[in-house]
Amino acid sequence: MRPKPSRTPPADGPVFEVFDARSATVEGTAVRRLLPHPRRRTVGAWCFFDHFGPKPIPAGTRGMDVAPHPHCGLATVTWLFAGEALHRDSLGSVQRIRPGQLNWMTAGRGISHAEEGVIAEVDGEMHGVQLWVAQPDTTRNGDPRFEHHEALPELHREGLDVTVLVGALGSARSPARSDTALFAYDVRVGGRLTPGGLTPSVLPLDPAFEAAIAVVEGAVEVEGRGLSPGALAYLGTGRDALSLAGSGRVLVLGGEPLDEALLMGWNFVVRDAAELDAAFASWEADDGRFGTVDGARGERIIPKR
Ligand code: MN
Repeated sequence: MRPKPSRTPPADGPVFEVFDARSATVEGTAVRRLLPHPRRRTVGAWCFFDHFGPKPIPAGTRGMDVAPHPHCGLATVTWLFAGEALHRDSLGSVQRIRPGQLNWMTAGRGISHAEEGVIAEVDGEMHGVQLWVAQPDTTRNGDPRFEHHEALPELHREGLDVTVLVGALGSARSPARSDTALFAYDVRVGGRLTPGGLTPSVLPLDPAFEAAIAVVEGAVEVEGRGLSPGALAYLGTGRDALSLAGSGRVLVLGGEPLDEALLMGWNFVVRDAAELDAAFASWEADDGRFGTVDGARGERIIPKR
């Protein structure tokens, strides 16, 4: 059967739909795949969300190693809570990724990259997320580019410590560039014990945006409902705030709804089966569309299909 593009339209108001992660394996590492979900393909332009770890990395060994592979029509966003990785891409970028630093690679018509584990000097762990942002039709055939941001704006509100990965929160604006209006916040939720009990903290949201939340550590009450790692709560649109209580760490993300049906196949985001075939064929033939990753440790990944 030929694959078909699909789209899940945004809810036209606030909802609270919990989708359990699917288990997947990326180069031997177990991940919780939160997006896409059969019932929720995108949240804003976010179209892929893998949460990996925490996985122990004993001293002298390295974390996840992903050999050179191609992308098109999307941006990859790597955000680590613990551990280190080394990014190499076909533009010649070689960049160490550490917790608190944002790695943003825009594929456009084509790019390839490798994500290498770094040998740990002491016992540690690998913990993070890999997200993809679908590029709109207007930019998806543009030039590839790579951005790395060593420091991002942080905001401290009562009971919340927020890092703005992309988009803005109040006057704090991330330097990351996105093709559509988008936001992602890494939020540490601290228990706020007051005489009346546990008081929730309030995270402002833009009501024009679609939003979703995932707990990556601990247990957090979102709008009074308990949420743990391994699930994505889709929040719909029309919310100007989110109540958060408990103790843990969450990723809140979303943006302007993407009004385009996407076809996702392997590492490609395209619009129809012919484009998907062309992308596979170019990578298999190594015809230059996706460039070459110099200095990578592993062999190019050739998918089975
Ligand atoms: Mn990749």
